[in-house]
Amino acid sequence: MIEEWTAFINSSGARNHVVFLSDHDILMTQRLVQGVDLWINTPRRPWEACGTSGMKVLANGGINLSELDGWWAEAYKPELGWALGDGREHGDDTAWEAQEAEDLYGLLEEEVIPAFYARDEHGIPRAWVARMRESMARLTPRFSSNRAVRQYTEEYYIPAAKAYHERVAEKRLKAAHIVSWQRDLAGKWANLRFGEVKVETRGKSHLFMIHVYLNKIDPDDVSVQLYADGMNGEAPARKEMSRGEPLVGAMNGYVYRTEVAAARPAADYTARIIPRCPGATVPLEARQIFWQR
Ligand SMILES: *Cc1c(COP(=O)(O)O)cnc(C)c1O
Repeated sequence: MIEEWTAFINSSGARNHVVFLSDHDILMTQRLVQGVDLWINTPRRPWEACGTSGMKVLANGGINLSELDGWWAEAYKPELGWALGDGREHGDDTAWEAQEAEDLYGLLEEEVIPAFYARDEHGIPRAWVARMRESMARLTPRFSSNRAVRQYTEEYYIPAAKAYHERVAEKRLKAAHIVSWQRDLAGKWANLRFGEVKVETRGKSHLFMIHVYLNKIDPDDVSVQLYADGMNGEAPARKEMSRGEPLVGAMNGYVYRTEVAAARPAADYTARIIPRCPGATVPLEARQIFWQR
């Protein structure tokens, strides 16, 4: 790829306009983010993994002009910087790319460069500085390592440390229980079966009733759920079903029931069984899923 870039730079007449910086490291990045007024990042959506370089520019008083991808799709507001694209994917559509190139030049010519050179009597670009302050003030608290580390600590590290202490307490009682739960499920999972399914719609609710044959699995070790894909990009619907009376003549066979709003058709919902164990993390520690067909 680097060879192709070099060949392109040499053959396209861009030699005097392009610099390829090799071995990007923390030292080089410091120089770059301290030295720029405008950070332009033009990935083809969705290939920007995140865009941390744009966040580093914030803290150094630079302004972002980037594709609405990665962090910039979350952070961008007109008063904070400039955006390219419509936040959607367009594959390698060359017409779209040509349009975005036009948009980039248009933005630079009509907005960015005039704002940078519009100086007051003290030589200060007032509108530019206002945007810079707004971007620093509003975005650095959200897109900083302080925030990220705090969030990881509160949401993951502290709960994980607590869970660890609980597991090793009393001669690792809980840890041993979790391991035997994992082994037990792995050995018996293939015997799960769904039986009869009934759905009744009453007023504003669908009532689901499903026969579940757990065979040798302890009903406390699994959770039976009703699942439906999320609509319009929303999170999926997951409803825990409650265990009712045992099925006559079956080993660990039970009727499970639940009720969901009839706003969606009943056919959107599928029952499934997943592992359950207080103190264990599912699906991280037990990845099985058994779907109703
Ligand atoms: C910030 C940084 C990156 C990430 O750059 P992006 O443009 O966000 O991909 C990579 N390497 C180093 C050394 C950095 O400091």
